[in-house]
Amino acid sequence: MASVKLDNLRKVYPNGYVGVADASFQVADGELLVLVGPSGCGKSTLLRMIAGLETITSGTLKIGDRVVNDVSPKDRDIAMVFQSYALYPHMTVAENLAFGLKLRGHDRAAIAGRVAEAAKTLELDELLDRKPGALSGGQRQRVALGRALVRKPQVFLLDEPLSNLDAKLRMSMRVEIARLHRQLGATMVYVTHDQIEAMTLGQRIVVLDKGLIQQIDTPMALYEKPANVFVATFLGSPKMNLLQGELVEGGSERDRGLWLRIAGDIELPLSPEDFMRDALRSRLGQRLDMGLRPEDMRIVDGSDRAQLPARVEAVEPVGNEAFVNLRCGDSEIILRQPPNDLPTPGDVVHLAYAPGRAHFFDSDTGARIG
Ligand code: ADP
Repeated sequence: MASVKLDNLRKVYPNGYVGVADASFQVADGELLVLVGPSGCGKSTLLRMIAGLETITSGTLKIGDRVVNDVSPKDRDIAMVFQSYALYPHMTVAENLAFGLKLRGHDRAAIAGRVAEAAKTLELDELLDRKPGALSGGQRQRVALGRALVRKPQVFLLDEPLSNLDAKLRMSMRVEIARLHRQLGATMVYVTHDQIEAMTLGQRIVVLDKGLIQQIDTPMALYEKPANVFVATFLGSPKMNLLQGELVEGGSERDRGLWLRIAGDIELPLSPEDFMRDALRSRLGQRLDMGLRPEDMRIVDGSDRAQLPARVEAVEPVGNEAFVNLRCGDSEIILRQPPNDLPTPGDVVHLAYAPGRAHFFDSDTGARIG
């Protein structure tokens, strides 16, 4: 296996559109790195540059110790798995698995050995004589993975490999890919637009938006300390609530603290854990966005000081919990509540948040504060 290193990798399409702007990161040997972002953010462009299917406008790409900018795809020692499976319909599973090796001139015995090994790893033994038309979506995707596996490449590149599967199958294939990664100790770069897939599979995640890398970190670090509003609201479901307001100082002499003035008469006192942050104190008088995850807010009885009045707009029970949609000034808020003891649409309730769990962002740039 090998590492992959990108230095200021840039893609400008012939029409002048910048698909990827100066991407720099390293995928460690044996790491499963996920590229995630909304449709059109440049993740396929980035993966295709690593694969050699897209030319590199500028920057340096290394696989292992070798600069591969101008190396053809077949000589990069990578294997790619596509969303579309790209299986040959007239060939059996065994022939599909063997095809790439045959092209590369491996001898029969070696091919048979590798096909048998991949079939065992992916539990395809029973299906070797079938053609793709006689397989389920999940089985086809396993064959597509098998075809990459038999190549024993330095790096696996996976482009939305589970997008064509239904939700249940996606979950089981996700577990299978994670198992495969552990078993092979393989270097993998995995592209998805699905934040759940990114969070569950990635050892580290690269978050992209509009061709630009927004943040690179472990799933929990991204969740706990998003670098900006984009990352904060992209990861997590329901997404992080944002309350925009002006940071003011208030309270009595003995009880001086910072407040967020949200609308004319709506003010939220910040917990000491929050206003003790130096970065926040220096923002007095400025407008900023306060971010609170749905699980970090709850409805309280109204006697607490740190609370926010909000009107219940809708209640959506989903079994084990309910999503409560509320409005506070111009802001929409979503809470997760236990399924018993739910408010009714139209109620005005009071909300409190877990001390120290608030995130703050610059209202103009979206950058994290503190
Ligand atoms: P993603 O995989 O994140 O959905 P892509 O990498 O496919 O996004 O595309 C990134 C951006 O580059 C998109 O806005 C897309 O329209 C644009 N793009 C892709 N291919 C070309 C091309 N050949 N010419 C011009 N623009 C392109």
